[in-house]
Amino acid sequence: MAFSRVLGQTRIKSVMGKTLKGGRLAHAYLLTGPDGVGKEAMALEICRVLHCRAQGSKKGQGLEPCGRCPGCQKMKGLVHPDLKLLFPIPSRWANKPPESANGGDLLGEEIAKKADDYYHTIRIPGGNNILIEQIRPLNRYLAFRPVESDWKVIIIFQADRLTPEAANALLHILEEPPSQSLFLLVSGQPGSILPTIRSRCQGVRFANVGEEEILRGLKEKGIPEERLSRLIAKLAGGSFGVALRLAAEDVDRNREGALGLVLGFTGGSPSQVSDLIEEWQGKDRYQLTEGLRLVSLWLRDAQILRELTARDGESCPHLVNQDRADRVVEVLDRFPRGDFLGAVAQVEKAVDLIDKNVYLKSILMNLAINLRALLGGK
Ligand SMILES: [Zn+2]
Repeated sequence: MAFSRVLGQTRIKSVMGKTLKGGRLAHAYLLTGPDGVGKEAMALEICRVLHCRAQGSKKGQGLEPCGRCPGCQKMKGLVHPDLKLLFPIPSRWANKPPESANGGDLLGEEIAKKADDYYHTIRIPGGNNILIEQIRPLNRYLAFRPVESDWKVIIIFQADRLTPEAANALLHILEEPPSQSLFLLVSGQPGSILPTIRSRCQGVRFANVGEEEILRGLKEKGIPEERLSRLIAKLAGGSFGVALRLAAEDVDRNREGALGLVLGFTGGSPSQVSDLIEEWQGKDRYQLTEGLRLVSLWLRDAQILRELTARDGESCPHLVNQDRADRVVEVLDRFPRGDFLGAVAQVEKAVDLIDKNVYLKSILMNLAINLRALLGGK
C-alpha cells in the first residue's frame, strides 16, 4: 500500500496519491493537525515517493518506493542530497553546524531515530526556533537543479517555530518558488505561522487516528499486551505519536503521578505543593505536557461519571481510565462540587503556555492555585 508508514489518514493518502500520480504537485503544502497523527510521517513518505528512481517520481506510475534504488537507499538514512530537513535548533548553532563535540552526535542520533521511526519527534535541547541562518542557505540550495531526483524537497517540522526573520526570508522564497522545488511545512499550531506564508501553501488537515488504527499500529510495532495496548490507545487521544511514547513508558505509574498532582495541588500543605512543583519542573517539556494530559483525563472522567445517574464506572465505556474506575470515584468523592471542566480548561491553558516557553515554575504555581479554587476539596 502506498504511504505505508502513515497510520490511517486514508482521505489524505488518496488525495496526495492522486496528486503525485498526476504529477500536479503544488509548490508548497502546509500539513496541519494534532501532534502525533502522522503529519511528519506523511511529509517524509511523499519525499520517499518522489526520490525513488525506480518508479515514484515518474508520472502515472506506482506510489510505493522500491526500497532498493540509490534514491531509496539515501532516503533510508534521510541523507538524500535533494532533501533539506529543517527543525528548531539551539541558537548557539546559528552560525556553524555542530561538530560532534558540541552537539553533532546528538543531531545525528535524532535524525537516525527519525529515519527509523517516522513518528519520532526530533528534539534538540535548547532548540526552540528555526533560525534565519537555516533559511538563508536555501537560496543557494534551490539555485541549482536537483542532483539525483526530479524534485528538491524542503521539509520544515514545527514550522510555527520560525523566528520572524526566518519567516520573512522563507516568505520571499515562497513568493517565487523555483521550479522543481517542493516545500512541505508541518505544524500543530498553524495559527502561529505568518498568514502570508500560510496563504502560499496548500493546506492539508490531518484528523485524529482512530483507536482501532492505533491498536493495529501498536501491534505492528510489537507491543502485544492487550490491556496495556487498549489503555494506551484510549489515553493517546487519537495521536499515534503519543501512543508510542506512552508505550515506551510506565503508563500506570505516570497515570498515578498525574492523579497525585491533582490531589496534592488541591489538598496538600504549602510545602507539599512546592515539592510537587519542584518535581514536575524537573520533567522535560514533553513529559510535562504528557503528564498534564493525563491530569486532564482524570478530571474529564470525573465529570463524565458525575453526569451518569448510576455511579457505576465499570460499566461506563466512556471513561478513559475505565480500568481504574475506583480511582475516578475517589476523585469525584473528594471534590463533590468541583468544577471539573473549568479545571480541564486550566490544565489545557498550562499546556499551551508550556508550548510558548513560559517559565515552568510560574505555570505550575498558577495551576495549583487555579485547581484549588476550581475543585475545592472536602
Ligand atoms: Zn527506489
